[in-house]
Amino acid sequence: MPYDVLSDDQREIRDLVRTLARDRIAPRAAEIDESHEFPWDVVELFREHELFGLFVDERYGGTGTGTLLSLVAIEEVSKVCATSGLILAVQSLGSFGLELGGSDGQKERFLPRLASGEWLAAYALTEAGSGSDSAAMRTEARRDNGEYVLDGSKRFITNAAVASLYTVFAKTDPAKGHSGISAFVVESDTPGFEVARLEPKMGISGSTTGELVFSGCRVPETNRLGPEGSGFRLAMRILDRSRPGIAAQALGIAQGATDYALEYAKTRETMGRPIVQHELIAGKLADMETACEAARGLLYRFGQMADAGVADAELTKAGAMAKLYCSDTAMWVTTEAVQILGGYGYIREYPLERMMRDAKITQIYEGTNEIQRVVIARHLAG
Ligand SMILES: Cc1cc2nc3c(=O)[nH]c(=O)nc-3n(C[C@H](O)[C@H](O)[C@H](O)COP(=O)(O)OP(=O)(O)OC[C@H]3O[C@@H](n4cnc5c(N)ncnc54)[C@H](O)[C@@H]3O)c2cc1C
Repeated sequence: MPYDVLSDDQREIRDLVRTLARDRIAPRAAEIDESHEFPWDVVELFREHELFGLFVDERYGGTGTGTLLSLVAIEEVSKVCATSGLILAVQSLGSFGLELGGSDGQKERFLPRLASGEWLAAYALTEAGSGSDSAAMRTEARRDNGEYVLDGSKRFITNAAVASLYTVFAKTDPAKGHSGISAFVVESDTPGFEVARLEPKMGISGSTTGELVFSGCRVPETNRLGPEGSGFRLAMRILDRSRPGIAAQALGIAQGATDYALEYAKTRETMGRPIVQHELIAGKLADMETACEAARGLLYRFGQMADAGVADAELTKAGAMAKLYCSDTAMWVTTEAVQILGGYGYIREYPLERMMRDAKITQIYEGTNEIQRVVIARHLAG
């Protein structure tokens, strides 16, 4: 058996996810991409097999199996369908606010529904005028009679219109900059909350990306996560933990593309032999597989560090490095994989053009790769 960093128990779950991905999700991937419809059947499959529980502690209804295994699950699903992999990644993104900043009462109230998948979650930080510079947000939350009144809007929010719970960041004290931001849990049926529109996109087309509008949206004080003014720090801590989920999505796309291109290269013949025997093609495949393994090394190391409970500062750097490298690998590898298929790579009938379109977003969301470089460089400078 090839060397594997996973334990026997972890391998068993990985193999279950791999089988589900191959047998149940792969046959749906092209259809999900073409229909631009959110795949509720995939959500149902994840619910049935308790995969949403991978991100949550046992105390709150999750499996308590740790970070590494949750990343492996996202990777396995993303090998065949990046939209489906993102459903898992965003469930963790939307749950981390409660896990890292929630009180016991808030955790007891919300986490079991996220762990079972009864509710999907979302994370709402970005606005039209503030993406990388998220502290420049304009959404405000004003205290009023034991409640907060939210006004403003959020842009590009994954799971818009399908999530039941949104982790929302807003300014409770606009004069204070970073330290005037607070975090809230907003339930989708709260009056004054609305999804204004969904964006058509280049890739991950089955995933919803939408604009949220808050007009006099009243949320109880008990829905505030952590103390007033701690929201920006919480937003960044969440991203430190969730970015590796995007790295796992990217690695899945890259490995899926490499595997597909390899099989194709074994059967496609030119000049009297399979193209895998042409040195230029064999060399590309060797480089692609090597890049995937290097990316996996960074990603799994992050998972092991998180499971060992290392300090936040170390996780920030390790997570940024994994996200940067895995997503750049996904973009480069999918481009090479399309090239290996020649004209067929460019045609919708084959999955590689979809993988190439899906790969691009991994270099952009949860902090662009320019921002990841800024984060890493800041750690190096000390
Ligand atoms: C499909 C999709 C899903 C998304 N899902 C979510 C979600 O669920 N929740 C959420 O809150 N957001 C989400 N986003 C938003 C995403 O995280 C932002 O788009 C991203 O962080 C970049 O912000 P921006 O688009 O405003 O670009 P800008 O910040 O305007 O950046 C423009 C360019 O300038 C570069 N740049 C900016 N600042 C610097 C700097 N200091 N140094 C060097 N280069 C810099 C950027 O890297 C980029 O190349 C999503 C976006 C998309 C497209």
